[in-house]
Amino acid sequence: MKKYIYTKGEFVESTSTGIDIFSQSVHYGFGVFEGLRSYVTDNGVKIFKAKEHFERLMKSCEKIGIPFKRDVYELIRASYRLLELNKLDNAYIRPLVTTGRGMDLKINDVADITIMAWEWDFYNGNKLLNTCISSHRRSSPKTSPIDAKITGNYINSIIATTEATNNGYDDAIQLDERGFVAETPGANLFCEKDGKIYTPASSEYILAGITRATLIRIAKSFDIDVIEKDITPEEFKDADSAFLCSTAAEVVGIGSVDDVPYRLNFEDSVGATLQRAYKKLVLDKLSYEVII
Ligand code: PMP
Repeated sequence: MKKYIYTKGEFVESTSTGIDIFSQSVHYGFGVFEGLRSYVTDNGVKIFKAKEHFERLMKSCEKIGIPFKRDVYELIRASYRLLELNKLDNAYIRPLVTTGRGMDLKINDVADITIMAWEWDFYNGNKLLNTCISSHRRSSPKTSPIDAKITGNYINSIIATTEATNNGYDDAIQLDERGFVAETPGANLFCEKDGKIYTPASSEYILAGITRATLIRIAKSFDIDVIEKDITPEEFKDADSAFLCSTAAEVVGIGSVDDVPYRLNFEDSVGATLQRAYKKLVLDKLSYEVII
């Protein structure tokens, strides 16, 4: 079956991307991307938090000086059309903004967006993740912004993930440059202690995840205390339970850190309550804006 992508304002076969091989994005990781999920709801296929994701895309561009301004609704409509063309329903959608050539930001008036989509039906079962504290810290925000989805930032993510999986772990927990718990290579983190949940404060040290924000809202609606603060690795390990969250993975329980298991059965944790509530929310047609 032919695969289509959206690029330069048109739907074309994925084999003809037209992305410039000389572009800064290819050579230097100077680009911006997003990751969205679509779900089959009882009101058809819907893209969860589409507006928030495309707004974050623009903000990420702004943070590194890519002059990329588009109508968010035009990009949302293009994403829906792309799903239709590729006959996708439970899918992952990947918008990618690429830029021009050379080392100079001024040439970035040629920035353009390509949107790809592929099937995604992530189901982790009840498997909990065995994690390790990574020896690779998140990059310093003093060098370039890391609270944005910049392609080059993910060099650090790939190195940390590879180290973890080579050592037999499922995922890595990365610290920020100050030594506090930051995030995993591709998700935000929470831990639970005495019925309250803790998450690294939204700051220049983490990506302000859209799933993280959604879970904080759900937790507050359940009267669960959410505390955003700097968390040491010792505090994180000494919690009763922990979980990660992202658009792609949703909510996944963490079974252990550095081979030390959490005390609380994940099924009895606040994380499991939020996992169920999140799953319900993404399938609820009332969670979606009407896009025309
Ligand atoms: N942190 C990092 C480094 C990520 O790549 C992601 C995935 N985009 C997240 C957190 C979670 O963000 P979101 O919930 O918006 O997908």
